[in-house]
Amino acid sequence: MTTPADPWGDQFNHEERALLAPFVTDLDAPIFGLCNLPEVVKGALFSRYSRTDKSLRRILLDEFIQAPESGFAAIVGSARENGADQLVAVRQAEAFYERVLIGYGDDSVAELGGAHVACEGVSNIAAKALEDARIGISPLEKSTRYVVFNRKLAGQYRYLREPGIMASAYACAYQSALDGLFDTYSALLDPTIAAVRAHSPRDAQTSERAYASATRAKACDLLRGLLPMATLTNVGLFGNGRAFEYLLTKLYASPLPELRTVAGAMQHALDALIPSFVKRAKTERGQEQQAYLRAMRERVAVVSREYQQREIADSAARSLAAEPTGVSLVEFDPDAEAKVVADILYPHSDLPLAEVRALAAALPAAERLAILRAYVGERGSRFHKPGRAFERPVYTFDILADLGAYRDLQRHRILTQERQHYTTRHGYVTPPELVAYDLAAPYAQAIERASTLAEQIAAELPEPAQYAVPLACRVRWRISINLRAAYHLAELRSSPQGHPAYRQVAQAIYAHIRAVHPTLAEGMRFVDMGDYALERLDAERRLDAKLGAQPQ
Ligand SMILES: Cc1cc2nc3c(=O)[nH]c(=O)nc-3n(C[C@H](O)[C@H](O)[C@H](O)COP(=O)(O)OP(=O)(O)OC[C@H]3O[C@@H](n4cnc5c(N)ncnc54)[C@H](O)[C@@H]3O)c2cc1C
Repeated sequence: MTTPADPWGDQFNHEERALLAPFVTDLDAPIFGLCNLPEVVKGALFSRYSRTDKSLRRILLDEFIQAPESGFAAIVGSARENGADQLVAVRQAEAFYERVLIGYGDDSVAELGGAHVACEGVSNIAAKALEDARIGISPLEKSTRYVVFNRKLAGQYRYLREPGIMASAYACAYQSALDGLFDTYSALLDPTIAAVRAHSPRDAQTSERAYASATRAKACDLLRGLLPMATLTNVGLFGNGRAFEYLLTKLYASPLPELRTVAGAMQHALDALIPSFVKRAKTERGQEQQAYLRAMRERVAVVSREYQQREIADSAARSLAAEPTGVSLVEFDPDAEAKVVADILYPHSDLPLAEVRALAAALPAAERLAILRAYVGERGSRFHKPGRAFERPVYTFDILADLGAYRDLQRHRILTQERQHYTTRHGYVTPPELVAYDLAAPYAQAIERASTLAEQIAAELPEPAQYAVPLACRVRWRISINLRAAYHLAELRSSPQGHPAYRQVAQAIYAHIRAVHPTLAEGMRFVDMGDYALERLDAERRLDAKLGAQPQ
């Protein structure tokens, strides 16, 4: 019996339908999903779209299920009985997939399959390097707010004993200073929770569960500055093959041994899942790309030495005197409003952009404002975002904030960010609450001890010294962000449940944009400029409502 199948008139008989059924969400619909297939097979299937008139179900049947050279039976058949065999079979069929994947497409073919990779026990330096990947990778990282970081393993705190430092004369001092940070973190945890509770007592409307969660999160937030960049954490990455290949290449080219080791381990994991997509990270081409990245970094390091300011000791103080928030707006386009208005009108016009721009530039201010307001409309929530015309203006900010805030904001991807070295030279931030609770002295003592050591190590081993830098220390980084992404960042990152350190940066970004472009910032209605004693409390109360919990 035959049944009409897809819109291309393909006919699949009963037997063929039975063969296809486990691998597609629908045997007839023109829009359907693939399932129960390894990533390389899905990638190879999609890569054929550009070179064939056949339907995907037909390709799957003819070129994979019923083609002995594809290794399909071994990959998919045995995988059902024994998951481990699938990994072996993917490797065995690599030559076939190589031909299909690379032979029928360009680099973008490697975007057609993805993988989940867990990176456990990596330092915060490595976590940031992994999360520097912007396109095609989605990370998730263990939180310093919800997880307490003082658990020991085999009697040792969980931080990276960096091999370069451990082989140097600083080994003992490094361990002693970092142990000191973790000891202080451990010692301050309970007193900080108690002080938070004393300063923000529970009210009758709040359940003990919500209150306990919010106060513990607050204490973790206050103490995270004690954690050094060497602190080990877990990062989960979901990404496509091409993005992983580039990430591997960058990690291999790193001056830090930990990142090169992470690259090797990640390559090993990905070789089992999507080998054809990531193999070029280690081929001759990949090695040349690594050499290019390495050489660029080294050349610029040499060239820039000549231009370094000799006296940087007070650079942080100067910046903070000029901009107490630590956020300076360095560049913006004074003609942005007219250009945005032109971009709003453009898709509704037949004219060339230059003419639409001339028209917008000549409009009276009131008319331009009316066009902007029509575009932004009534935003009901922060998810209602203006469109691509708002990608026209770009703002460049120089930011000096603690590493904790940087760690959070670095995760935004629709912008250009670049950081300087993790250093102790710009001083550190003490949360005002710790001062109010009379707990700032041991905090400062542990951080200053680690900072002094980090400075000493940096004189000899500048790259590894970064592991000793506590998260309380300030880092400088630049952000170039378009207005549309600024709406997202400022509104998301000023929300009440956020950490005060990055809320302050988000609020300052908004304030700067509003100051130079009031009409463009008018629609940023969901930036929260308030201060909150217990940032997580409202979110926990909402969770209570979902759980149906009652105040106790
Ligand atoms: C209060 C709070 C707590 C958080 N806690 C944690 C935590 O404990 N651990 C943790 O790992 N993360 C945490 N995050 C999330 C994490 O830091 C986000 O990566 C960060 O907020 C960046 O936001 P974004 O992905 O929305 O924005 P951006 O990266 O700036 O992207 C802007 C928008 O572009 C789109 N976009 C960008 N990239 C992709 C993509 N690959 N796929 C689909 N759409 C994309 C999305 O619409 C996104 O909202 C937290 C965030 C907040 C606000």
